[in-house]
Amino acid sequence: MDVRKHIEVGGIVQGVGFRPWIFRLATERRLVGHITNTAGGVTIEVEGPAGAIEDFLGRLRVEAPPLARITSIAVREAPLDGDAGFRILPSLAGDEHRTLISPDVSICADCLRELFDPRDRRYLYPFINCTNCGPRYTIVRDIPYDRASTSMAAFTMCAACQAEYDNAANRRFHAQPNACWDCGPRVEVWQAGAKCVAAPDPIAEAAAQIQAGSVVAVKGLGGFHLAVDATNAAAVERLRERKQRVEKPFAVMAPDLATIEGFCEVDAQSRELLLSHQRPIVLLLKKKPCEIAEGVAPFNRYLGVFLPYTPLHHLLFAAGSFRALVMTSGNLSEEPIAIGNEEALARLGELADCFLVHDREILLRSDDSVMRVAGGRPRHWRRSRGYVPVPVFLHKEVPPILAVGGELKNTICLTKDRHAFLSQHIGDLENLESYRFFEEAVGHLRRILEIEPRIIAYDLHPDYFSTRWALGQKGVERVGVQHHHAHVASCMAENHLEGRVIGFALDGTGYGTDGAVWGGEVLVTDYAGFERVAHLEYVPMPGGAAAIREPWRMAVSYLAKCFGPDFLKLDVPFVRQLDAKRVDVLLRMAEQGVNSPPTSSCGRLFDAVAALAGIRQKVNYEAQAAIELEMAIEPDPENVAYPFEVIAGGDGWTIGTRPLFEAIVRDLRACVPAGVISRRFHSGLGDIFARVAQLVRERSALERVCLSGGTFQNTFLLEHLEERLRGEGFQVFTQAEVPAGDGGLSLGQALVAAHTLR
Ligand SMILES: [Zn+2]
Ligand SMILES: [Zn+2]
Repeated sequence: MDVRKHIEVGGIVQGVGFRPWIFRLATERRLVGHITNTAGGVTIEVEGPAGAIEDFLGRLRVEAPPLARITSIAVREAPLDGDAGFRILPSLAGDEHRTLISPDVSICADCLRELFDPRDRRYLYPFINCTNCGPRYTIVRDIPYDRASTSMAAFTMCAACQAEYDNAANRRFHAQPNACWDCGPRVEVWQAGAKCVAAPDPIAEAAAQIQAGSVVAVKGLGGFHLAVDATNAAAVERLRERKQRVEKPFAVMAPDLATIEGFCEVDAQSRELLLSHQRPIVLLLKKKPCEIAEGVAPFNRYLGVFLPYTPLHHLLFAAGSFRALVMTSGNLSEEPIAIGNEEALARLGELADCFLVHDREILLRSDDSVMRVAGGRPRHWRRSRGYVPVPVFLHKEVPPILAVGGELKNTICLTKDRHAFLSQHIGDLENLESYRFFEEAVGHLRRILEIEPRIIAYDLHPDYFSTRWALGQKGVERVGVQHHHAHVASCMAENHLEGRVIGFALDGTGYGTDGAVWGGEVLVTDYAGFERVAHLEYVPMPGGAAAIREPWRMAVSYLAKCFGPDFLKLDVPFVRQLDAKRVDVLLRMAEQGVNSPPTSSCGRLFDAVAALAGIRQKVNYEAQAAIELEMAIEPDPENVAYPFEVIAGGDGWTIGTRPLFEAIVRDLRACVPAGVISRRFHSGLGDIFARVAQLVRERSALERVCLSGGTFQNTFLLEHLEERLRGEGFQVFTQAEVPAGDGGLSLGQALVAAHTLR
């Protein structure tokens, strides 16, 4: 018996090959009916034998094109219509405007097969793509998302490509970047300073240069990479010098999983991430010995690795004999990644020996995403290419808000209905190039998402560029949000929590409501407000920002606080090596409060312990001392956790560090290795925070704990504290889909702003 069903599918179902997939699903089962794009997703009507319809619905529920994300399916009966066949109907006017734009997607298996098939008409064509793969977000100029509003508008499809594009049964049906050798973009190889080199095969030429030890700028999906042979120590050093990047790790791209397994430990979850169509950089434990040059990630047990994600990457590996490539963002130090050909020549001219470019314009910068498996879950460290602009789905509707994030690792967030759109990684807003990228990203996202924010949320720090920008905007309501409140709110939003929670916000720097530098904060919070119930005790940060660059200053500050001026008589290596004159200046600064703001920062406490343990006195990149302290952890046969003290005050508790530093000094005098000291410090920190959580529970009866802030990128601390809290019966919530660090701040700001105005 024939039946007819009316089906509404919601989610990311447009521009992802959904209609051709449904077309095939229906025609294979000889079902008739139609499908059309609508404001909320797609509407399908299918008619045919009941069994075939059931089968169709079953497939719809469990399968879907790789890029689709179905959030709802509603099915109801419909009267029989007796259509002649199954048709894809044109979209209703205006509805295409609501289409969610897909992120960029790594090359799919079908296209990869064709790429290396000599009989295929796209054999070795570097821009092969289909409805399941290829560039999306980074080539969009405007909406609606069709070819005319992408950077592919510059290329007119040949008859063969057009026929694929128009055929609903073809896997390139409405694939906007569809192209081939005859009609699409081309690669060229340019020499630094000069222009095009007459090379018959530009990719082979670039590969040969890399093999010879050169630095080659390669134009990718979201910007240029700088590529060198990752096993060539001299080439890696050259890249470091030119990029003025002293020790911050580089990411490594390897041609396949087997190669990665040759130099890293790959667990099942990380393998899945590496192979996912988003192709993020995944942090993995290095094997020993490791064929990758030590200079790629010095003093680090981990390596950030990823697999090729564009046809060009695959062709580059096929053309060369290198085992792995350093692929780092094409920029100088902390500037944004370069995207234009001329821009790359100008900005990277001193960095690269040669440029592998093409004429498909990148319209929006997007760095690679970075992830790590911790506490049994894949977590975003940097959410960017491959994931943006997929929204974070919220548990309730919020008004249109623009949240401008913080200063470092900036992202912005735009909200609409139950969606929070986090931007790609914008970076550190400390140079003109980054400011421009920030403004560019705000404008572009507002346009393509069609969001006219009524509220702007910003950090309370008066000197942040993002704050100054927000305060300069006219005609909108503005809401300042405390940094650590935003961190906890971000964790709450990601986990769909309502009501009050205990929030641990641990990080390096955030502007406190008392003007101090906060960062070791325990809050009782909901979206609308927060109460600071406990924090690490204040110590001076002698020299302000200089104390962040030079961890030894923090060690001196802590020792002076715990031991008084007598600390100079302590017989430990750190003190013996101090320069008495500089210490004198430092102590006087701290005493008189000259450029020595008080801080409760957890990051600075890590710095102090790292310096005292002899691990690092000065840093070359953000959080380096803390990262190396974690890397140093060694097993502790005695299983010691260093003590802290909890001091009760009028409005909450202060976590005192005197017992901690006394214990470290004792261990240093007993020649306990730095790795064991590190372990005891981490264990102690986990224990004291678990104890504080219990104190807060006694007072507030709250059972839910949220962990957020950059310090929770420390896997040992995250796992240890989570386990301790669960053991005490708490419900623990952490961040995974959104970075725990400042990259996730804008989401929390948006949610706080939404509640402040209610
Ligand atoms: Zn494909
Ligand atoms: Zn063509």
